[in-house]
Amino acid sequence: MTHRSTNILTILILIGLVAGALVGEYGFHASGATVDGDHWLKATGDLVLIRPLKLLIIPLIFFSVISGITRIGDPSKLGVVGGATLIYYLATMFMAVTLGTVLVTWIAPGVLAPEIQESLRDTAGNFAAGETATRSLGSAWMNILYQLIPVNIFEDMVKVRPLGVIVFAIAFGLALAAGGDKTKPAREICNACFEGLMILVRWVIWLTPIGVFFLVAWTVGKIGFDSISSPLGLYMTTVLIGLAIHGFLVLPLVLWICTGMKHQPYQFMWRMKRALMTAVGTDSSSATLPVTIDEAEGEGKCSKRAANFVLPLGATINMDGTALYEAVAVVFLFQLFGIQLEFGQLLVVVITATLAAIGAAGIPSAGLVTMVIVISAVNMNLTGSANGPLPVAAIGIIIGVDRILDMCRTAVNVWGDAVGAKIITQIAPDVEAG
Ligand code: ASP
Repeated sequence: MTHRSTNILTILILIGLVAGALVGEYGFHASGATVDGDHWLKATGDLVLIRPLKLLIIPLIFFSVISGITRIGDPSKLGVVGGATLIYYLATMFMAVTLGTVLVTWIAPGVLAPEIQESLRDTAGNFAAGETATRSLGSAWMNILYQLIPVNIFEDMVKVRPLGVIVFAIAFGLALAAGGDKTKPAREICNACFEGLMILVRWVIWLTPIGVFFLVAWTVGKIGFDSISSPLGLYMTTVLIGLAIHGFLVLPLVLWICTGMKHQPYQFMWRMKRALMTAVGTDSSSATLPVTIDEAEGEGKCSKRAANFVLPLGATINMDGTALYEAVAVVFLFQLFGIQLEFGQLLVVVITATLAAIGAAGIPSAGLVTMVIVISAVNMNLTGSANGPLPVAAIGIIIGVDRILDMCRTAVNVWGDAVGAKIITQIAPDVEAG
């Protein structure tokens, strides 16, 4: 894509975001229109943008990972790249979750006047607790393990379970790299398929401004900006402050330090702006993945070797924004129910929120569902203490405002993946592989 068309597209996406927010607020929310889950605004956004992007996710992950792995080639080098990538994911998610826990304990958004606490608790009832309450810590681990060791790659593809597809693509990529001249044609075909898919991605990307417009109008029309001034406002502000500190200070600092102070983090953030705006508009790191890869390899100047491997994996497991959000949300709910968590229990929050974020899929509201794991783990820890367990239905309190927070945490998730790709580019720069 030429520099000029990239600029035009960026401006169009920005217009889509702002116009969507204005139309949602003044055209729907303020006028009291009912905007529900099946509203035509959402259906149009899905048709125009989400479905075409989703269509690309699995083929793109498959060929991008194979192409990345075969470019890295040497298995020992891959070990270093893979190890560094995992350490980066875990370290930054841990930083995010710790930041969230410290902030929510300090700001204490759930400690409100008793009558406000009471009225908020009353809204908990309408959450379908039975459906998700069964998700324990053990089953979360097993779920991740089962996905890591797939039995039927086609089933994983059909059910859009990226982890299994990634594992198979890594193994197959390694085999193709080890095959030398015998597997050279297959390597070339996979690389060519990846390039072909990226051309398709660049076509679909032109739909982003329209799709983002409808999706943001739907979100704002449903929730409205006045939710910020509701009793949940302080909770939302705490999440937003945490995301801002992590996105604008922590991750840029990590990037600056890990690249030997050679890169300007904010310049890189600016170069990744289309992916970040798409994340805000779609609430989904997986749907944003095609745009993230395109922009990281183009304007972001990440190597293909790093980006093709780090970004698909990151969109599936690296979720700094979600980890931070889960910690804040869970501690907030405990505060609201008058349960003061001690240091040991906060530690349980830190560990399980990281796990819950890893387990969350890159789709809208995934973090809201995996939060049950964190609540169950803390409840287990509370057994026998004077404090009662927190009902899982309490999640119902924050569902209403979740979508707005989802926009922001998804952008931080995608930004975390991009920073990872840039850092790994240092260890795996592009050298054309045969
Ligand atoms: N929507 C987020 C993402 O796709 C996941 C979540 O936190 O709900 O990255």
